[in-house]
Amino acid sequence: MQNIREYILSLGADLVGFADISQVPAENRHNLPYGIAIAITLNPDVVKLIEKGVSIEYFDEYTDVTQKLDDICEFTAKYILDLNKGYKAIAQTRHFVRAPSGTRHPKVLLPHKTVAALSGFGWIGKNSLLITPQFGSALRLTSVLTDAPVPEINKSEYSCLCGNCTVCVDICPGRAIKNVTWDINKDRDDLINYDACETAVKKRGEPINKQNGTCGLCMAMCPHTKKYLNENANTDM
Ligand code: SF4
Ligand code: SF4
Repeated sequence: MQNIREYILSLGADLVGFADISQVPAENRHNLPYGIAIAITLNPDVVKLIEKGVSIEYFDEYTDVTQKLDDICEFTAKYILDLNKGYKAIAQTRHFVRAPSGTRHPKVLLPHKTVAALSGFGWIGKNSLLITPQFGSALRLTSVLTDAPVPEINKSEYSCLCGNCTVCVDICPGRAIKNVTWDINKDRDDLINYDACETAVKKRGEPINKQNGTCGLCMAMCPHTKKYLNENANTDM
């Protein structure tokens, strides 16, 4: 397992981290003790377009990165299983976490952002997204759960740095963000009204006839993301 970080990075990930997830209820982590957090950053030029309105470029970026993460997630779990040492590995792909029939929204028992926060990537903001110091929220995530001995375990966690900021609360077109500060005991529904977000995302996507990957204002306008965009975007785009 010493080379697993290099392997995941070689697949195209930008961030890889390892977490002890034993503080999470056992049923939510499938009785597995470790989480591997994997992130791909979003193109800052594309994220910058979000402020101006819905864009097919962001939809394409969102879709491409999400598919790449599913692929990396599957390959990572296979890497562990192929060690043939009896280790378990669960790839938390979109297929794995999809909503059970009869329910409307996929709600991951152990969200990628929780694994990422425990892996030391950053903290979860009022927008219910992971925020990192280097990229803000301009990334997407996946995670693998395992009992294989990971090469290192993160020991430090960020505190939520949202403070009194309400940028995402104020800008959300669906009024979906509840102005609540995250802690390990809160889940998505404590922070955002998912139905209100979904309705607003669909409405924003109408001009390009898309139903997801069409908003992202709470990600793009967060001051931590703005810092990343200002330092990295090509303003000519
Ligand atoms: S994606 Fe858009 S609608 Fe959903 S919470 Fe963020 S700003 Fe609000
Ligand atoms: S916009 Fe402000 S309140 Fe919202 S997630 Fe970013 S720092 Fe937190």
